[in-house]
Amino acid sequence: MVTPTTGPTAGTATGRTFNFPTLYFEATRACNLRCNICMSGSNDPQRVRQSRQEQLTAQEIEDLVFARVSEVGVKIIIWSGGEFLTRPDALDLLRGARRHGYRSSVCTNGLQLNQERLLAIREAGGDDLVISLGINSLDDSNSATRDAEVEVTLRALDLCESLGIKRHVVVNLGRHNLQTLGQTFDYLYQRRIPWNRSPFTAQGPGAQHFWNKTSPAKRWSVTPTRTCGDMPSGT
Ligand code: SF4
Repeated sequence: MVTPTTGPTAGTATGRTFNFPTLYFEATRACNLRCNICMSGSNDPQRVRQSRQEQLTAQEIEDLVFARVSEVGVKIIIWSGGEFLTRPDALDLLRGARRHGYRSSVCTNGLQLNQERLLAIREAGGDDLVISLGINSLDDSNSATRDAEVEVTLRALDLCESLGIKRHVVVNLGRHNLQTLGQTFDYLYQRRIPWNRSPFTAQGPGAQHFWNKTSPAKRWSVTPTRTCGDMPSGT
């Protein structure tokens, strides 16, 4: 998916001018978790198996993505999945993106992130690489939709900070975490961690959970102690 914006540094393709600075690239459907709300089908072994034949190889990504997307203005590639880091060639792809002049942001569930792995990721992606992690809440209800404890994410965020690696957090919003959103936003605000909020989408196998996870607009009156505009990079 390419996200359009406006700005002065548009690319050109087929004689027309485009400005799509960010490419969100689901580079694999494979994942090392099985979250029930998963929108990409990564919690469904059969889908994952089928998708292996459709997944672009490193050479195809080189030829079809790196060599071409600058023509429509792409500057940043957001690597996602599935879990991007389960691709054996993940670091090669980060190096390739950098070689072509793109910045990278890695969306990850954090399971693989230890000091050694993070240093290797930064070596491959460069100093401006961003590690992006997801949080529902800071308590046990984090695992209401994520097949992992929040401590995995918090440890990864702390490790990034200690290594000087840029961080970002996606906060999924739903019924399960409405009551704790203020606490979550305060935590991120105090640590100056950029974030964005993301509502659930009825897509993939996770769609069956859509109606009991999403929240009616009228319930937003309970949220949070800080407004989105108070936050670094809050959207
Ligand atoms: S970590 Fe993300 S990609 Fe993996 S199963 Fe969970 S929601 Fe799906």
